[in-house]
Amino acid sequence: MTVARVNLKGARRWLGGHPWIYRTDVTERPMMDAGAVLVHDNRGKPRGWALWSPLSEISLRLLDADPDAVIDQAWWDERIASAIARRVPLEDHTNAFRLVHGEADGCPSLVCDRYDDWLVVQFMSAGLERFREEILTSLRSLAEPAGILARNDVPLRAKEGLPRETVVLHGEVPREIEVHEYGIRFLAAPWTGQKTGAFLDQRENRHLVGIVARGRALDCFSYHGSFALHLAKKATHVTALDASGPALMRAAENATLNSLDNISFVEANAFDYLREKEREGITYDTIVLDPPAFAKTRSALPGAMRGYKDINLRALRLLAPGGLLYTASCSFHLTKPLFLEMLHEAAADSGRRVAIRALTGQPLDHPEVLTIPETGYIKGALLEAMD
Ligand code: SAH
Repeated sequence: MTVARVNLKGARRWLGGHPWIYRTDVTERPMMDAGAVLVHDNRGKPRGWALWSPLSEISLRLLDADPDAVIDQAWWDERIASAIARRVPLEDHTNAFRLVHGEADGCPSLVCDRYDDWLVVQFMSAGLERFREEILTSLRSLAEPAGILARNDVPLRAKEGLPRETVVLHGEVPREIEVHEYGIRFLAAPWTGQKTGAFLDQRENRHLVGIVARGRALDCFSYHGSFALHLAKKATHVTALDASGPALMRAAENATLNSLDNISFVEANAFDYLREKEREGITYDTIVLDPPAFAKTRSALPGAMRGYKDINLRALRLLAPGGLLYTASCSFHLTKPLFLEMLHEAAADSGRRVAIRALTGQPLDHPEVLTIPETGYIKGALLEAMD
């Protein structure tokens, strides 16, 4: 049998616009290795083609709701071409952006980021691995990269029964790639950097903060200095803070690359540093908080909420009158309402009158699809201390 059969709950997920069907909703499992499979609903009606992952909790990922579709080279060419086409407007501002954002682009479990002439891909399901050659062929012909690196070292692959590895799949890929965004240059680290080599998902938020930045500025959780570089264009002085020394070394290289000499680098724990500055009575005109995901799981959420509130409260207290705070969370489990609730509490405790100047989300190349919550994770707010 090479079809999968799903129960009513599974079929309803597709009808509701979500591509995943869980193992518990598959009533007849196809007797085949990972790959593309035709899916029948509880009444035996064909509902479309999906990627089949025999070992995963997410058994089926919808590829095409047309039962007559053929998942071949031409199919992948078309899907990937349309994903690439929607990013064209970004080329005016940057040469580093996401070409394929998985489920949001109809290519479940596939990530592809472009850094100048090179691509970094992640194949995050067993079903998708089966189409590795077709996908590489599409990417080579549509994007004409000098090299393609697979950052298949993500823990998620273990759940799919796939090896974790970082390997070149085409051409050659350098250790560092110089890219630019909105006039700022920086080095991406495709082999060893976080994610695929940089945090591309905050690009427009960095640009926004760069426009309004002023005075004395502080970028906590700075990593390679991406926010700090944008801040330094307008602010008189920027402190780029991170707990990682190696990350700050890269940030310093990036500052040099942009001929910026008004950034100082501090290796410290952001929680401690904010508390210390409060004790010292220091104020800032612009602060950025872009921490790592404090809530990696749902059960970690209460603790994470306290962590987010703590840093936001302290940052609000450190703002000079009229000062600006750009604050973000990339925890998927911290939903938009919870993010605002946390900020509300921090503002109340700070005793400041805090205005929302902007609420931000994900850029064009990281589409957040309403019916697929997992495609969205970044929430941001630009706040102003009015008094
Ligand atoms: N703002 C960056 C991304 C930040 S990633 C950008 O736009 O590219 C999160 C960073 O937080 C990492 O560099 C990590 O080293 C740092 N970090 C984690 N915990 C920290 C802590 N308690 N204090 C300071 N930095 C921390």
